[in-house]
Amino acid sequence: MADTDDPDSGFGSEDGEHAALERLAAEIDRDATVVALTGAGISAPSGVPTFRGDDGVWDHFDEGQFTYGRFRSDPAGFWEDRIELQRALFGDDYEPNAGHEALAELGRDGYLDAVLTQNTDGLHGDAADALDDETPILELHGNARRVRCTDCGTRREGDPIFERAADGELPPTCDCGGIYKPDVVLFGEQLSGAVIQRARSLTAESDIFLGIGSSLVVEPAASLPREAATTGATIGIVNLESTPVDGVADAVSHVDVTDALPRLQSLLADRDRLE
Ligand SMILES: [Zn+2]
Repeated sequence: MADTDDPDSGFGSEDGEHAALERLAAEIDRDATVVALTGAGISAPSGVPTFRGDDGVWDHFDEGQFTYGRFRSDPAGFWEDRIELQRALFGDDYEPNAGHEALAELGRDGYLDAVLTQNTDGLHGDAADALDDETPILELHGNARRVRCTDCGTRREGDPIFERAADGELPPTCDCGGIYKPDVVLFGEQLSGAVIQRARSLTAESDIFLGIGSSLVVEPAASLPREAATTGATIGIVNLESTPVDGVADAVSHVDVTDALPRLQSLLADRDRLE
């Protein structure tokens, strides 16, 4: 139900921004199935470095050294370089921001049914834990704070394994003898089929699909909102920059997620009080 000719669609003006959030709040009720897809834009306000763009991580590291092919052929060298990359990415302690917290509140209060994220920083999980929110979180590209044994599949907290690697255990290995890999999807590696399948079925079930802090250009994030639109879902976009999906969206807000999501959450809380 795209209606981009509507002057209230939310392109630019403050009134438009507010109208876009009001419209989403009016459609989000506890009977609707609401799925949110998030990208780097929700973690940037927490200070998590971005990979691309100005002063992105790939300005300082050679991304060709972090491929799945290199991990397979030279796991020791891969790990040696990955220790440095890990410090650059997560050397500082990052905390969830108002955007993560607002989504966790929406989940806890029964307004949000699933979070799909392109981020590997685990901040949605931190925000959910802090609020006892049990909304499923699908990390499409994995979680960089964990490692996974490439033989037996055991997942473990990453920090102790990165410490062992930094102390010279290159590559670090599991009790079973298998080599640990950061539990993220590397360049040249397939995304988990099971995760993609689940993301697609959640998308197909959604009545409302929210694209949040994502430029929606990298697959599968690029196609999920279009799939949701095909099945008749209402599409809401909250992203600083315009996205290729804005044209099929029902409500678009080009403001920072740390502003828009708490506003959306409080609009819903207000409606709740009036009921
Ligand atoms: Zn193992």
